[in-house]
Amino acid sequence: MMGGTFDPIHNGHLVAASEVASLFRLDEVVFVPTGQPWQKSDRKVSAAEDRYLMTVIATASNPQFSVSRSDIDRGGPTFTIDTLRDLHAEHGEADLFFITGADALSQIFSWRNAQDLFDLAHFIGVTRPGHTLANPGLPEGGVSLVEVPALAISSSDCRERVSKGEPVWYLVPDGVVRYINKRALYRDVG
Ligand code: ATP
Ligand code: MG
Repeated sequence: MMGGTFDPIHNGHLVAASEVASLFRLDEVVFVPTGQPWQKSDRKVSAAEDRYLMTVIATASNPQFSVSRSDIDRGGPTFTIDTLRDLHAEHGEADLFFITGADALSQIFSWRNAQDLFDLAHFIGVTRPGHTLANPGLPEGGVSLVEVPALAISSSDCRERVSKGEPVWYLVPDGVVRYINKRALYRDVG
């Protein structure tokens, strides 16, 4: 699984998921857009349905990729511990892998019930330009660090580009560019 705000989903997310799926021979990657991201309460996050639909648009053509509404439908702030418990309930016997970029991995101990997370999933930290990938003191064997093709793309940068009228073609999938335009997202990012 790969959790994120996906505001918007971009090719950095997709390359990371595709690379990890190949390296770890995963059956499936489930993208889980957050409900209310409590660590991003300082900025306006796009409506959950817009972020969910962009994630669906971006992943629809890949038979290995799917999108879960789990965090969105639970309501309230999103905690990864709840996401993992829900996915376990949905995919009973499956081994869960949690894919996270270097920046998010380094903050993992600020997440709720951090210690319990490692009983529920194997963590895979991926390289991300501008961030150092390191095990932030996770249990031995509980985390793998892998190098993925470097795409210096962030959702923040995409939003800023759209707000300035700059292109995001080829940073996000074509369908996502069109969806952003259709819904007039990110026109005035604060
Ligand atoms: P924002 O700028 O709004 O924080 P973001 O680009 O960081 O957006 P998120 O939705 O916050 O995207 O990230 C979801 C997950 O994807 C996180 O684990 C993050 O580390 C990872 N990720 C995001 N962009 C990349 C990238 N270019 N390469 C590798 N991992 C990435
Ligand atoms: Mg981020």
